[in-house]
Amino acid sequence: MLQSTMLPHLKGYINNQWVGAKSGTTFAVHNPATNEHLADVPAMGTAETKQAIAAAKAALGQVADIATRKQWLLDIRDNLLAEREEIGRVLCLEHGKPWPEAQGEVDYAASFFDYYANNMESILAPETLPETPKDCQWSVHHRPIGVVGLITPWNFPIAMIAKKLAPALAAGCPSVIKPASLTPLTMIVLFQVLDSVDLPQGMVNLVMGSAKEIGGALMESDDVPLVTFTGSTEVGQTLMNQAAKTVKRLDLELGGNAPFIVFADADLDNAVSQLIGNKFRGSGQTCVCANRVYVQQEVYQEFADLLAEKASQLTVGDGMEEGTDLGPLVDEDGFNKVKHQLEDALAKGAKQLTGKAPEQLEALFFPATVIINASQDMLCAQEETFGPLVPLIPFSTEDEVISYANDTEFGLASYVFSADKDKCHRVAQQIHFGHCAINSGTGPAAPAPFGGMLHSGMGREGGKQGLLAYVELQTIAEA
Ligand code: ADP
Repeated sequence: MLQSTMLPHLKGYINNQWVGAKSGTTFAVHNPATNEHLADVPAMGTAETKQAIAAAKAALGQVADIATRKQWLLDIRDNLLAEREEIGRVLCLEHGKPWPEAQGEVDYAASFFDYYANNMESILAPETLPETPKDCQWSVHHRPIGVVGLITPWNFPIAMIAKKLAPALAAGCPSVIKPASLTPLTMIVLFQVLDSVDLPQGMVNLVMGSAKEIGGALMESDDVPLVTFTGSTEVGQTLMNQAAKTVKRLDLELGGNAPFIVFADADLDNAVSQLIGNKFRGSGQTCVCANRVYVQQEVYQEFADLLAEKASQLTVGDGMEEGTDLGPLVDEDGFNKVKHQLEDALAKGAKQLTGKAPEQLEALFFPATVIINASQDMLCAQEETFGPLVPLIPFSTEDEVISYANDTEFGLASYVFSADKDKCHRVAQQIHFGHCAINSGTGPAAPAPFGGMLHSGMGREGGKQGLLAYVELQTIAEA
């Protein structure tokens, strides 16, 4: 069982009290690297979610002033950074990603509290219009939208909630938060941090357990005008259907199928090292990681050799062990999906350069696997992989690679490498992805709006837009 100074309570949190499930039942959390049983946490559902919504609604009555809200964010940032090692350890144990990488995720989470603390005042400032129609002075004010439901996935257990909670608190919105059931412990740790900050009763609430019940209660409630969700496109679609009844606003960050495009004139060493950093973070279980790598014919073999050499040096293992580059995949379904995509590609003519194909599931470790002679018809080019499989697909012309990149219903992240900046921008303009990195494998950052086009979702997190998602505009016309 996991012992941690950051986990004195293995409970939910409603109205500033640590609470168990009304039924008294729990569910288990395991370490994907060892299958060790880490903890049992309360299996909450409809009743607890309704209680949390009521507590949050009551908190809406006493929205703190902007200086107080700013101080909350700064305190949360400081507490996260002070505890980064221990939070990273809990995160590593329940998720599997290497401990140093998990600590990096804590820093990244803190950067959202930092960004909104330092920018909320200007973003939320009321605007007075220069025109005075109808003999009135017109001004536009940002009001907190109300109680918000925040639903997060397992792949970034602390970063994904930071992107939502920091702007929610900045806007003055009380929240009801549901973590993924594979990784609730990092969320409990975050609530330990929140408990130490002077937040009003009911401002933040944690319920964990049945996604159907908790999601259902949030979606049915007229007291929750906004739900923000990061996860699969399928669940996002369910939420869209459910939202109609209460005319709920939704912010959805859904699946991806990121193209990574390397032109022949690119700095290949840079492209390879950026790809390694981008693709193997979280063992490839991120919605922004390269899913399909397109390399121009002239440099295809050279790029493949460089990548294979680097990828074969990566160590797969327990994230708490020093020197581990890739942790395990999160569960059996995730492992089998990657294995199935690899088998499909090999059956259709791809050739494997690195990574001994795992015969069968013994542990959840999957090696960094590079394949060549991949093509658009393979599952690994059509579906999100969520694992450390890199298919290299050759292309000849700019137009061809643009059509390959756009051959998906997803539109989250994309990457373009070339010495010709005009070409990079020309390609960026023609592909339907909300994020495009040029000569870099970087994903999002706190000051920049990030989100998907098409089936990858709606709305943006980060930046000014990520805070405006949590406010309603009220226009005052004053005679
Ligand atoms: P992932 O497997 O990538 O985490 P999911 O979409 O399955 O993606 O889950 C993301 C989050 O959404 C998790 O917290 C999960 O429990 C929750 N979830 C799953 N199904 C529903 C649902 N029907 N309503 C609300 N939340 C859900």
